[in-house]
Amino acid sequence: MPLRRVRVRDVRPLTPRMTRVTLGDPSLAGAALARPDAQVKLFFPRRGQTEPVLPAPDRDGDVMRWYAAYAAIPEERRPWMRSYTVRAHDPAAGTVDIDFLLHGGGEDGPATRWARRARPGDVLGMFGPSDHFAAPVDPGAGDWALLVADACALPALATVAGALPPGRPAVAVVLVADAAERQPLPTAGDLRVRWVYGEGAAGEESLIAAVRAEAGRFPAGAPYVWLAGEAGTVRALRRHLVEERGIDRRAVDFAGYWRRRLTQDDAPTPEDLAEARERLAMREG
Ligand SMILES: Cc1cc2nc3c(=O)[nH]c(=O)nc-3n(C[C@H](O)[C@H](O)[C@H](O)COP(=O)(O)OP(=O)(O)OC[C@H]3O[C@@H](n4cnc5c(N)ncnc54)[C@H](O)[C@@H]3O)c2cc1C
Repeated sequence: MPLRRVRVRDVRPLTPRMTRVTLGDPSLAGAALARPDAQVKLFFPRRGQTEPVLPAPDRDGDVMRWYAAYAAIPEERRPWMRSYTVRAHDPAAGTVDIDFLLHGGGEDGPATRWARRARPGDVLGMFGPSDHFAAPVDPGAGDWALLVADACALPALATVAGALPPGRPAVAVVLVADAAERQPLPTAGDLRVRWVYGEGAAGEESLIAAVRAEAGRFPAGAPYVWLAGEAGTVRALRRHLVEERGIDRRAVDFAGYWRRRLTQDDAPTPEDLAEARERLAMREG
């Protein structure tokens, strides 16, 4: 079972709102984590805990039983669980880099609060990457690639862009707060990046408008599409691309990374459940 206790080795700001945290553990040396869009669940200590207290996995490594034991911890002691992207893995050093957006739109959630104060030596739990919660993506599928992300999905977009085949035409549309939040996106692909600036609902609208505008000048051929960001925005973008632009829905990898006014502890909405069922059906079919 890919469950680890990881320790902060380094913390450094990448941009005013993005902090890179390097997490280390001897078990990360030589592990196979280097794939695009590799997702992990991080476990953050509750107030009063110096590190997250997690159940030990059973000998048979049964994930569902382990998760049931985690969920049974009384809420006030159950470590917060949040999804993050492995931005980079250094198998020689036994470390992974996780880039935290300090989103702060209103009250910080526990992950953002932790990242603002992270110091070398701090401990987190880390589960994954695992096919239990994310199928591998293939940025090389299709004749060209369309990649769309908001600021918290930029680390994942960077890994997808980084895995494009040499010379593959690609268009990325990325929403960030302002020009200071732009990051280089090294790739072997032939990538054009359209940065969109804005925040809150207006920013989301600008992202949708930018993708609609780009649709008029898409490269020829069938695209591979990768979409991640606020759940409602991702839903609107997917609807536009599939229903109005006629893109094959099976060519679209999509994920709501966060939900406006909801935390990752809140229950899934009916739309979230419908999408999860659809994603499962596409994986199986
Ligand atoms: C597969 C996957 C990979 C992800 N990878 C990354 C990553 O590499 N880096 C990263 O920074 N995030 C990433 N995220 C997003 C991150 O998990 C969420 O932003 C998460 O909600 C942060 O937890 P929190 O404790 O800070 O906020 P929560 O407690 O979940 O939410 C608190 C409040 O903040 C708001 N909020 C949450 N996220 C955002 C946001 N991004 N922008 C504005 N408001 C927000 C919520 O609506 C809520 O009102 C990923 C999500 C998924 C599903």
